[in-house]
Amino acid sequence: MPAKKVIQLGLVVPCLNEEHVLPGSASALKSKLEALIARELITNTSKIYFVDDGSTDGTWATISRLVESDACFEGIKLTRNFGHQYAVYAGLMHAQGDALISIDADLQDDINAIDDMLQKFLEGNEIVYGVRADRVSDNHLKRWTASIHYWLSLRLGVRTIPHHADFRLLSRRAVSLLGQYRETNLYLRGIVPLLGLQSAEVFYTRSRRLAGVSKYGFRDMFGLSVEGITSFSIVPLRIISMLGLFVFLASTGFGLWALYAAIVGQTTPIQGWAPTGIPIYLLGGLQILSIGVVGEYIGKTYLEVKGRPTYLIERTISKAVEGQ
Ligand code: UDP
Ligand code: MG
Repeated sequence: MPAKKVIQLGLVVPCLNEEHVLPGSASALKSKLEALIARELITNTSKIYFVDDGSTDGTWATISRLVESDACFEGIKLTRNFGHQYAVYAGLMHAQGDALISIDADLQDDINAIDDMLQKFLEGNEIVYGVRADRVSDNHLKRWTASIHYWLSLRLGVRTIPHHADFRLLSRRAVSLLGQYRETNLYLRGIVPLLGLQSAEVFYTRSRRLAGVSKYGFRDMFGLSVEGITSFSIVPLRIISMLGLFVFLASTGFGLWALYAAIVGQTTPIQGWAPTGIPIYLLGGLQILSIGVVGEYIGKTYLEVKGRPTYLIERTISKAVEGQ
């Protein structure tokens, strides 16, 4: 019988102002690691990487204390706030392990799904998506915006896994392939399926945040949604062209009709301000909207062309262990 494969696991945890949840989350994650080590599923060099995404509260001090207390914790401090996606990416690029799992600091995602993820990994899957079985723990706004987002994404041809956020396992190979994507406009949910590696899904129930507040307000969710769609689909640009074609054909038709009416001596029913006023506002609005959409893509190109680093690490900390 071939020797059982013991995985070196890395958990990547992005943190922005999480001082209230971190102690609890850290001990839950540590217990999880210990249980997996005891079952000889993962090596005892497996670690939990906290990425401090420019917190302004005591998050870094908490992480430092945790690192001091146990060698299973490591801290990565970004120079400022780069945003959730970049914090996850930074952690993935830095962490070690045969498999890495990204999970939010508030542990809304069920850590027991990690067992299933490892199982799927052992079965040969290089990507394992954590997918929410339902959205009961979300408020109305989140549910609403999420369903609009998934509906739109699907229509516009963006390939994402519905109800999967950033709770996922990636194999070492998947992480190094991901490292080749040097996009400034980073939308991991869209990029990971593009890797094309064998993947699987595990289902779990998402709970409510234990403490602290959500860092994702309406503006952030709207931003992420626009980001996700415009980074992966140029269908909105096509829609503008189609709209232009439609208006052009319709007005040509009206023009011909007006010409015909003039030739045969009919009077066209033009009265008041509405037939001229409404099209002016309508087309003006459509034009501004279209410029906005085109501008969104130009802005993206501008940011990509500059090729600025997507994250900067101020420092990393880990407990020095003898013999390692
Ligand atoms: N987060 C981050 N940088 C940010 C915003 C959020 O690292 O700019 C982290 C946050 O600490 C948490 C995770 O990303 O671990 C998800 O954020 P949150 O729980 O606030 O979002 P929600 O679950 O409400 O969508
Ligand atoms: Mg959360």
